[in-house]
Amino acid sequence: MSQYDYDFFVIGGGSGGVRAGRLIAGMGKHVGVAEEYRWGGTCVIRGCVPKKLMVYASQFSEEFEAAKGFGWSVGESHFDWKTLIANKDNELERLEGLYQKGLANNNADIINSRAELRGKHEVYLKAEDRVVTAEKILIAVGGTPTRSSGAEGDELCITSDEVFHLEEMPKSIVINGGGYIAVEFACIFAGLGSKVTLVYRGEQILRGFDNDVRQALYEEMLAKGIDVRLMETFSKIEGEKDSVKTVTLSDGSSIEADQVMLAIGRDPMTAKLGLEAAGVAMDGRGFVKVDDYSRTNVDNIWAVGDVTNRMALTPVAIHESMCLIETEFKENPTKPDHDLIATAVFSQPEIGTVGLSEETAGEKYAKLNVFRAHFRPMKNTLSGSSEKMLMKIIVDANSDVVVGLHIMGHGAGEMAQTLGIAVKMKATKADFDRTMAVHPTAAEELVTMYAPSYTVLDGKRQES
Ligand code: NDP
Repeated sequence: MSQYDYDFFVIGGGSGGVRAGRLIAGMGKHVGVAEEYRWGGTCVIRGCVPKKLMVYASQFSEEFEAAKGFGWSVGESHFDWKTLIANKDNELERLEGLYQKGLANNNADIINSRAELRGKHEVYLKAEDRVVTAEKILIAVGGTPTRSSGAEGDELCITSDEVFHLEEMPKSIVINGGGYIAVEFACIFAGLGSKVTLVYRGEQILRGFDNDVRQALYEEMLAKGIDVRLMETFSKIEGEKDSVKTVTLSDGSSIEADQVMLAIGRDPMTAKLGLEAAGVAMDGRGFVKVDDYSRTNVDNIWAVGDVTNRMALTPVAIHESMCLIETEFKENPTKPDHDLIATAVFSQPEIGTVGLSEETAGEKYAKLNVFRAHFRPMKNTLSGSSEKMLMKIIVDANSDVVVGLHIMGHGAGEMAQTLGIAVKMKATKADFDRTMAVHPTAAEELVTMYAPSYTVLDGKRQES
């Protein structure tokens, strides 16, 4: 009989925490999982899933337009925000149920409560006002949107936490940020018919992505009528929470909008979590420090997912939990592999990417061959849309290995998933060349770019 109430206790019922809790309970361990809000975490409840449903909703306006070129007469269309929100909420409820069912079927204790550490083996359950003990503990509490841009009136802004529950669709919205969330929501609201202004402090949106892709998406967003203001920040937001607000920018100009949204990054949910009581070390921003195996400085406590400052992506959190299980419960020490992670930005058009940008690859490799195609996809020959597609393959000229792949256009996320396998396997450009094209697709471009568009020598593009 163990001296502890639980063999393993998970704080946080999101993707990483539930995966660990479910599988470890399935191994016959006594597991408790505590969640203070809703099961499924950011991804299911206020992130990837509802966002993607909204992306689908927002794409219909362009599809209705495109239909005309193919002979369809689409009657007057009308979008109802409340229907979308209600249907989305039903789907989330279904998914939340599945998360709980997975835990229950494996005999894990589902605890609807905030949980805080009281010591290295002690967890306080607020809803039950009691302390339980656990041999091993996993911190998987995730993150929360940053709510301060430093501007006066930040408290009038919504974040990605509130955007899924707005009573009305905003007729106009100003979004601050140039990362995943800012770009995705700018495109969602533009597609739904809102007047959108995107304000970004840097020279180009999506810092860290390939420069060509950043520029191409910027141009497509402008073409869709999104007002993208670069090198600007919020100075002041004035007005009332539930009426029109005025945003003053750093250049002194002002914009009126129904909603103002901050999408300026996310902070770890470690405040008042009792990490100090357990002796768990954090970095200067409050992220839990972990080693290569997701173990904290306290030997019986681990952390996975967005609460650690690694990559804030759902599949990464799940992978970190799977590695923890291998290491700790299967005597097979396994480090999470954060290299060559394919990712998608669900902007419109979408971005799919894996590996290095041209700029980063240029710093690492002496000579690159870059294969680039920027073209109008077949559908747009009749749809009337001028939207273009961009594909880029970055190859280390010395080894012929593909070190970066970047796509902007319809299906880019789906393509990135499959191309991620090839890049992870260190496919060479010759492997791509001897792969037969699937015709007619846009993706066939990836295996039919035979001659480099240009080379990069010591980081400098050599135009031919
Ligand atoms: P990101 O880190 O992607 O972007 C934050 C943006 O806010 C950057 O453009 C940053 O500028 C800017 N910023 C930061 N601080 C300020 C400030 N004080 N004032 C003005 N601008 C500021 O964060 P997100 O919030 O968009 O998303 C969080 C994370 O969630 C992502 O990094 C990603 O890991 C994940 N995510 C993944 C998605 C997907 O896979 N499709 C979708 C949504 C989120 P700068 O670049 O200059 O630093």
